[in-house]
Amino acid sequence: MKLHEYQGKELFLRFGIPTPPFQIAESPAEAAQDADAMGYPVVLKAQVLVGGRGKAGGVKLVRNRDETLAAATSILNLTIKGIRVRKIIVTPAVDIAREHYASIALDRERRAFTAIFCEEGGVDIEEIAARDPHKIQKTAIDAGIGLQPYQIRTLLFSAGVPANVIPQITRIFLQLYHMMRTIDADLVEINPLVVTTAGEVIALDSKVTVDDNSLFRQSEIAKWREPEGEDDLEREAREQGIAYVRLDGDIGVVGNGAGLVMSTMDAVKNAGGAPACFLDLGGGAGEEATRRALSLLLKDTRLKSIFINIFGGITRGDVVARALLSVHDDLKPGIPIVIRMTGTRAQEGLALLKGSPLIPASDMSEGARKAVVAASS
Ligand code: GDP
Ligand code: MN
Repeated sequence: MKLHEYQGKELFLRFGIPTPPFQIAESPAEAAQDADAMGYPVVLKAQVLVGGRGKAGGVKLVRNRDETLAAATSILNLTIKGIRVRKIIVTPAVDIAREHYASIALDRERRAFTAIFCEEGGVDIEEIAARDPHKIQKTAIDAGIGLQPYQIRTLLFSAGVPANVIPQITRIFLQLYHMMRTIDADLVEINPLVVTTAGEVIALDSKVTVDDNSLFRQSEIAKWREPEGEDDLEREAREQGIAYVRLDGDIGVVGNGAGLVMSTMDAVKNAGGAPACFLDLGGGAGEEATRRALSLLLKDTRLKSIFINIFGGITRGDVVARALLSVHDDLKPGIPIVIRMTGTRAQEGLALLKGSPLIPASDMSEGARKAVVAASS
């Protein structure tokens, strides 16, 4: 899970890594209010989970209220690499003497967290890696003993960093490592890590990625997720643990098992229809799962019909049929629902559906055809 710059900086503050104070604004008026309170000059930065915000016009230095309103308006109207900007950071500008690059990343080849430093920062590290690879200094961290200060001092000496800032940068690396292990991050990056004209070292940007496998024990951070490009239905589905992807058509496609749902989408296309979604009920298509899935789908006003394709293995056809009937009774969907069942107790299941408003189908292509016809009538 990628964190926004402001979320990473919030963690920096908690772990003692120096970074300027900041506020988050969602409108030009809010930005101006924050900037006025901070005192000028101020930097405004788009909060999107992609790099190269500076180049895209998403980072602006402003000197007064009018400039703030104008810059905030233009940044909040930006779409950077396909992502709408909804929030901006408002932070006091800093007098920069030098910009460096600092990070700790999981290096899978070395099977170790690796501290990386480059005396040239501010630009993409990939760019430097292509142009001047020798400028990038790395040291692998032994997981048993952790990051040792001498490792960073060695790195900084080789990079030619002036002696007066070495203790500060070393401390920042140690704090960064402590933070990363505490929050289960697999990447923490500061670019630029700047030395101010006053000789202070501070983090002006943050990039933090937390290992998804650890989110179960990083519950606070897990709640920070701000999915980009996700619509309301997709968010609700994710919160309920339903595997759902929104598509452009008008036929809801539901099945138990990702492979089955994908074939079902193909069948709907072959029958001349367009799937409105991919919805995988997962292994156990029991009453609760069916209820949650259908409740979700029925909020989608684009739907003209739903095609449910169940392969009965451990999941029994009669159980699915009873679940569907009960859910159908409660939710009273205003659109036709086609159901195809095969496998364990499929015949019993289909028999239960007789006389109900649910439309049975005996195989996948027949079901797809029926769903397409139902959608266009
Ligand atoms: P990115 O382009 O998305 O990585 O955004 P950054 O946060 O790294 O900012 C890009 C550049 O803007 C930095 O390398 C700095 O040169 C500049 N910048 C950011 N904050 C400040 C600031 O407070 N003062 C000054 N003078 N420049 C800043
Ligand atoms: Mn940056």
